[in-house]
Amino acid sequence: MVERAESESRKLLGRLRDTMANEAAGQERLDQITHLTADSMGTEVCSIYLFRDEETLELCATQGLNPDSVHQTRMKLGEGLVGRVARSGKTINAADAPSARGFRYMPETGEEIYPSFLGVPIQRLGEKLGVLVVQSKDAREFSADEIYALEVVAMVLAEMTELGAFVGEGAALRARHTQPVLVRGVTAQEGTAEGHVWLHEPRVVVTNLVADDPETERTRLTTAVENLRISVDQLLAVASGDTEQVQVLEAYRMFANSKGWLRRMEENIDRGLSAEAAVEKEQSDVRARMLQATDAYLRERLQDLDDLSNRLLRIITGQGQQTGADLPENPILVARNIGPGELLEYGRQLRGIVLEEGSVGSHAAIVARALAIPLVINAKRMQNEALNGDHIMVDGDQGIVHLRPDDIVVGAFRDKMAMQAQAQERYASIREKPAVTLCGKTIRLEMNAGLMADLPSLENSGAEGVGLFRTELQFLVRSQMPKRNELAALYARVLDAAKNKRVVFRTLDIGSDKVLPYMQAEDEPNPALGWRAIRVGLDKPGVMRMQLQALLRAANGRPLSIMFPFIAQYEEYSAARAEVDKALAREKKLGHRPPETLEIGAMLETPSLAFASKKFYEEVEFLSIGGNDLKQFFFAADRENERVRRRYDTLNVSFLTFIEDILQRCRTSNTNVSFCGEDAGRPVEALCLAAIGLTSLSMRPASIGPVKHLLRRCNLDDVRKVIHDARDAGEQSVRPAVMEYLRGLT
Ligand code: PEP
Ligand code: MG
Repeated sequence: MVERAESESRKLLGRLRDTMANEAAGQERLDQITHLTADSMGTEVCSIYLFRDEETLELCATQGLNPDSVHQTRMKLGEGLVGRVARSGKTINAADAPSARGFRYMPETGEEIYPSFLGVPIQRLGEKLGVLVVQSKDAREFSADEIYALEVVAMVLAEMTELGAFVGEGAALRARHTQPVLVRGVTAQEGTAEGHVWLHEPRVVVTNLVADDPETERTRLTTAVENLRISVDQLLAVASGDTEQVQVLEAYRMFANSKGWLRRMEENIDRGLSAEAAVEKEQSDVRARMLQATDAYLRERLQDLDDLSNRLLRIITGQGQQTGADLPENPILVARNIGPGELLEYGRQLRGIVLEEGSVGSHAAIVARALAIPLVINAKRMQNEALNGDHIMVDGDQGIVHLRPDDIVVGAFRDKMAMQAQAQERYASIREKPAVTLCGKTIRLEMNAGLMADLPSLENSGAEGVGLFRTELQFLVRSQMPKRNELAALYARVLDAAKNKRVVFRTLDIGSDKVLPYMQAEDEPNPALGWRAIRVGLDKPGVMRMQLQALLRAANGRPLSIMFPFIAQYEEYSAARAEVDKALAREKKLGHRPPETLEIGAMLETPSLAFASKKFYEEVEFLSIGGNDLKQFFFAADRENERVRRRYDTLNVSFLTFIEDILQRCRTSNTNVSFCGEDAGRPVEALCLAAIGLTSLSMRPASIGPVKHLLRRCNLDDVRKVIHDARDAGEQSVRPAVMEYLRGLT
């Protein structure tokens, strides 16, 4: 029985291949496929429904239904049985369709006389393309073999669609990958870029779907699986010690050795598919399961299996990884996701980055920011839509990607880029000038950094120093804990590059959103309020001690500034400070040169520190307000949560009054204070912070020009008055009043 089903299936596939080989136009091919499918399956009806747009399906070819309804009958996603198959991505097999849930009668098609219905999704690697349906007069459920056969036809259809087989005069489909596409994502790094698509993992294109000789295909498959096993073992051998990677590779090995996986693919071959099509069919099934899996662990494992299938496909087809040498001009990287290490390898060659996944706080986003490369994340479907070399425009300010843009979009986008370039010229012209306001106050503008890639910005941004060096970034982009000597060499290079400018090294700030790949992550209900930053440093002082030693050695007689993150009470500062004293004494004993001067500060990121004792304010040598964390705790709004992170305005009077109070305390105790959260780099926010008394701001290098440009045009006394008047008038935010003031500037 199974054998008969296999030979039937092979026959059907053979006929499909002949159809593909025909010189026929797209519509004709679709028609032929419906005829021969209905014929082979012994059903009266076979119909192909394809997506017209994301929400609408259209009957594009049929054998058995009223031919006049072709290109006329349409349905919404989720509407009727066909719409339900499309939405869920699941097969529907109904002996009595009219009484099945969701049935919708389409009178123009004449389908009422066919009670039995079998619909399977046409999808390629998770991308929904349409629905393939057979219907018949006798009310019966279709068998597992029949379902399989129809799924295979659907897969072949999907592949042929990808290859452009149905395009042409009067055709059902527009050519794929030729139309303009606009994708909305989320901004992770501002800026605009125009260039050409560079797919981090280019799609594998399978051209020979059908094969006559199953033996040859089985051999091709088993040889490729063997090679895959060897390559996974080799990767495991070099990855030892690196826990997360080892875990993933162990999962790969388990799947690569799984008999079930191989057997399912071999069965696909027995039914007439080529080795690569057999892998793809199995991969499609995995993806369908992945969409339905609610358990996070299971989804991750299915994701591993999906990655493994990709590797196998590359081995079978010989379509290997691309090399950096082939990069197009002005490359814009398109990927599902990318690790920080890989991104650093591409480095500044990239003009822009578009990711289907990712998060604003991800390591890739941190690297993109350091490299000042526009980055849009959560850009759905990009990998399916984009082809290597496609023209692409990335609007990192709006979080929008234009793929193959039309002339109107190109014109508007280039105008925007030209305006930005003009602004850049303006900023360059004031680079060497101080940020002096119209009322004669000088604001110190420093930059935030964390990677070696940031250092050139010290020269070309006009920054007066590094107000925040996030040392954890060096830890985050590696796959192993760095050693003390490596760190010392690295910090020394930072100080060398800074020449005599001040660099404030913040000790390791891990936990919460920053999880080191090689450290066991603690499962905490509220990581932002959990075991992070100085709390980890004091509870497990080994790493902090190593880092302090590295910093002292790097300074080697030069001035050194160290800052502790996330200090919530005086004792944390004094305990951390005691660690520095101990480290210094030890270094001196070992004969190392102590720093010329050593200042030790704290970040004010929790409201509690604003109310700390007078003793703390007198002892701490400087404070830096970490507005990102401070704001999230002040408003109780998670900075990583898209739903709430923009909900409260920094220029809300409560927050500004809170900062003013902190500044007043610092004045009383004569404590140096600066502000280093993201808001310092937003010109209007920076202006208000300066107006209420901050004289030092640290920001992304790219923000220094715009902030300085605005400060130089404003009178802080006037702005302060505007802020206080708005507050006295009972406004919730001073923003409207300040914007009004700015509109009045000449
Ligand atoms: C902050 O919280 O404002 C800050 C500068 O630190 P990070 O963004 O690294 O948490
Ligand atoms: Mg912080």
